[in-house]
Amino acid sequence: MVGPLRFTTLYPGLLATTTRHVIEPLLGARYLTKVDEIDRFWALSGGEREAWRANALDRILAYVRDQVPAYSGLLPQGDGLDLAALPLVDKQEIFGHEHDYFSAERESIPAIPKHTGGSTGDPWNYPLDRDAWAVAYAVQIHHLREVGVQYGDRRVTLGFPTSLGLDHNTWQKRLRLRAERTDVSLCGLEIDSTTSRRRALEACSRKAVLWYGYASTIAAMAAATLDGGRELVGPSVIITMAEPLWPAWKVDIERAFGSRVIEEYGCNDGGIMAHRCRAGNLHLADNQSIVEILDPDGRPCPEGTDGDIVITNLHARHLPFIRYRNGDVGAFGPCPCPCGRPGRTLARVSGRTADFIKLPDGTELSPVTFFAAFTELSSVRRYQIVQRESDHLQVRLEVRPNWSADDERLIRSWIGDRARHQLTVELVTDEPFEVTRGGKHRVIVRELA
Ligand SMILES: [Zn+2]
Repeated sequence: MVGPLRFTTLYPGLLATTTRHVIEPLLGARYLTKVDEIDRFWALSGGEREAWRANALDRILAYVRDQVPAYSGLLPQGDGLDLAALPLVDKQEIFGHEHDYFSAERESIPAIPKHTGGSTGDPWNYPLDRDAWAVAYAVQIHHLREVGVQYGDRRVTLGFPTSLGLDHNTWQKRLRLRAERTDVSLCGLEIDSTTSRRRALEACSRKAVLWYGYASTIAAMAAATLDGGRELVGPSVIITMAEPLWPAWKVDIERAFGSRVIEEYGCNDGGIMAHRCRAGNLHLADNQSIVEILDPDGRPCPEGTDGDIVITNLHARHLPFIRYRNGDVGAFGPCPCPCGRPGRTLARVSGRTADFIKLPDGTELSPVTFFAAFTELSSVRRYQIVQRESDHLQVRLEVRPNWSADDERLIRSWIGDRARHQLTVELVTDEPFEVTRGGKHRVIVRELA
């Protein structure tokens, strides 16, 4: 056993050297080099970090003022440019006027073709600035290192449409994934119990240090494992992404695999990345972007108050993202966080603005409104709230054996109260759950005529 163990220990160092000298130049993206820059950023004092951010913001604003038609004439010459002077944009706005939002020198700025929005039924192909991608990836590598996972430690990816499998990738990405020892062979979105149990056994057999994947996929693997009366030896760290990690899912995953479970929030359009700490807050990558949370009138929300997440990417120049509303609703958390890590935090991300329940009086309720009812009950594994009629909600539940009539009454009255008694509430435990086109679990399904 000495041979493989030594190889495993030595591999990250070997990979780091190879990456810097061979893979980064081939890919044209210096992601591992940027991890060192992130180290230096977080080593700064709080005041120095703010100065760094103000400077980076000034540079990107001056850039869009000079190079991007949509912003020409909106900012004065000189420094100290005011972000708030610029309009909010979203995917539809950029999509509808693409050439106004691209840099005039885009041809000379490398970009990666990206596809997003399959989950919202609103797909969008856009070029992701390669430098901005490298920063986002560096943020991930940096965070993994903080939780004890070295770049090059064996990892398994779970969830994701199978089109992300190796065969469909460019040779550059295949090279990177192979060098990283990233195993994509278990990708796929089926979460029935037979598939999930088999996937859990196979994933454990790979002896990876890290699993990285969709929260619903890994939660289904955990549920299938526990239902089979087993606990398996999983990786040391599991990172869930793409969907909120429900408390009940986290408990299941920890029990089934004995791993540390960490939730990641991020998206490439805009350029935002955050990881949840032990104190329960999502730590933002302050070196990556400026994040605002705004109310419907465009005013900044205080800590703890939900609003639109608005992102200004400090690195993207091919297609800059300036005051970009990514469609998620969230609230700032404490700064500094009680966990001791510096920087800004989000207390929560409540999901897409499109996923709100609408009351007959016009009030819209975010998914967060309903969290507490379910998180306090250990008998509910998963839920989905469906609104197909203006005065009726169907609540679909996946329950555990300890589900009782008391629980049912509790949920009924809780949701009734939150919906201000304007909606009838029906509970069902035998309806299949609907997922998005991208295979993500939907907490709220609103399909009003
Ligand atoms: Zn924290």
